[in-house]
Amino acid sequence: MTDVPGTPAHEQLLMGLVRLGQALRINSYRNAGAYRLSPLQADIVTLLAGDPRPRRLSDLTHALASSPPTISDAVKTLTTKGLVERQRDPSDARAVSLTLTQDGHMEASRLARVPEDFGDAMSTLTRDDLAAMLRGTSTMIRSLQDRKAIPLSRMCLTCQFFRPETHPGTDRPHHCAFVDNPIGDAELRLDCPDHCEA
Ligand code: SF4
Repeated sequence: MTDVPGTPAHEQLLMGLVRLGQALRINSYRNAGAYRLSPLQADIVTLLAGDPRPRRLSDLTHALASSPPTISDAVKTLTTKGLVERQRDPSDARAVSLTLTQDGHMEASRLARVPEDFGDAMSTLTRDDLAAMLRGTSTMIRSLQDRKAIPLSRMCLTCQFFRPETHPGTDRPHHCAFVDNPIGDAELRLDCPDHCEA
């Protein structure tokens, strides 16, 4: 049997992920909105919206794998645009905590909408394809997190409420102890507000 030409499957997958990353980056520039957000500014708004606790600059720097001056500049710009508020941190008088303003929350809702092109593309996936992709990306992200190659994200695979393969042989084999419900691969969360580090 002759081998299929081209690089091996894992390299093809990496190429596919790079292509999707390019498409998302292009969309991020196109989706700057009325506040003319840069991709980093959009990431900060999205991150602050996803976690209601007041966040410090160091939290953002760590979560976005960026540098303190870069994050500081982006936050300054977001404050000037009226999307982010800086407040004295009640737990440390020398620290500043960051929260979204009302306009910031509205902008976060706009950013949370799945881009039309991506919505159309994802609607072509079967539920099995979606489940396989979520399972694969969750596994890869966890592995990269374990190697400290990327920041931690609040996903099922690292959550103390996640019970894998609790209901074997069913289409929802895992269990979320937080909501006390079975969950399937297609419902795996990559960013869950109820996540608790295992
Ligand atoms: S709380 Fe969220 S992250 Fe944790 S297992 Fe349940 S759905 Fe997954």
